[in-house]
Amino acid sequence: MKKTLTIIIFLIFQQLPNAAEVNVYSARKETLIKPLLDQFTRDTGIRVNLITGKADIFIKRLEIEGENTPADILLTIDAARLVRAKEKGLFQEVISDALNKVIPNYFRDIDNHWFGLSLRSRVIVFAPDRVNKEELIDYLDLANSKWKGRICVRSSSNIYNQSLVASLIAHHGINKIEIWASRLVENFARPSKGGDRDQIKAVAIGVCDIALVNNYYLAGMLESSQEYETYAAKKVKLFWPDQNGHGAHVNISGAGVTKYAKNKEEAIQLLEYLVTDKAQQWYSDINYEYAVNPEIKNTAILGIWGVFKSDDLNLSLLGRYNRDAVLLMDRVGWK
Ligand code: FE
Repeated sequence: MKKTLTIIIFLIFQQLPNAAEVNVYSARKETLIKPLLDQFTRDTGIRVNLITGKADIFIKRLEIEGENTPADILLTIDAARLVRAKEKGLFQEVISDALNKVIPNYFRDIDNHWFGLSLRSRVIVFAPDRVNKEELIDYLDLANSKWKGRICVRSSSNIYNQSLVASLIAHHGINKIEIWASRLVENFARPSKGGDRDQIKAVAIGVCDIALVNNYYLAGMLESSQEYETYAAKKVKLFWPDQNGHGAHVNISGAGVTKYAKNKEEAIQLLEYLVTDKAQQWYSDINYEYAVNPEIKNTAILGIWGVFKSDDLNLSLLGRYNRDAVLLMDRVGWK
């Protein structure tokens, strides 16, 4: 009898929920999201278990784990990966007025499977002593022969470039963009290598005159504790491309609730937390990204850079045209 009672009590305890928690697979660098998650825990009492890694690996992992996955949220730094995860059936629909109210519809999935949380723009940086600002126009103009041997950009295996090219395909069609990309490659100052910060440094030391980079890298370098980074960053200037056309290309960091989330309520609570004014301001002040909430005022460096026209292309298209973009860049020899 006593033994049966012990087993029953044991089973009851097994059924009792643990302290509230939410498990996150994150393709963001830990330092760029953990402070927000810690604040969420302090404000709500919900523990966040964070695993950081590569988006593609997490997508594979979610597929393999199926309904046994411990993950409640998948967070990535590119819309194309979110689209891929959705297409593989890894997310579920989330109905949330808080999310839908704050996030413009072109920064979230039409079926509410994923949501943009912060924005980054792919901008042109240039050497003001060798480039007249009036010469700069938009992304398409980078194929002009006036830029021959003057452009630095990282490799085509990088998702930021894939998404930029995908956006151009969405706007202009694949044939036009293939010609554009082949001319762009002819204008490279050197074969693609390094990350975005390396392109900024290359412009600073005269390897090239202009480069394509995400805006927050320049901001981060301007505020860097490494003297050589601030030195390089101060040597270049930022240009917002395509201000008289579609606007500067933007991408999101974003997230969705996994199909088999065990802590769905907490997961939604976390996503909603990430679009509160406090969290959105943090993205701008600390990460030098832009808030998805257009009401948030930018301070510090982003404030100095001022407002710009961003492309309001529906970001689902970055996923739809990702494969076309990758194949196209390969065909034109963008390494
Ligand atoms: Fe980045």
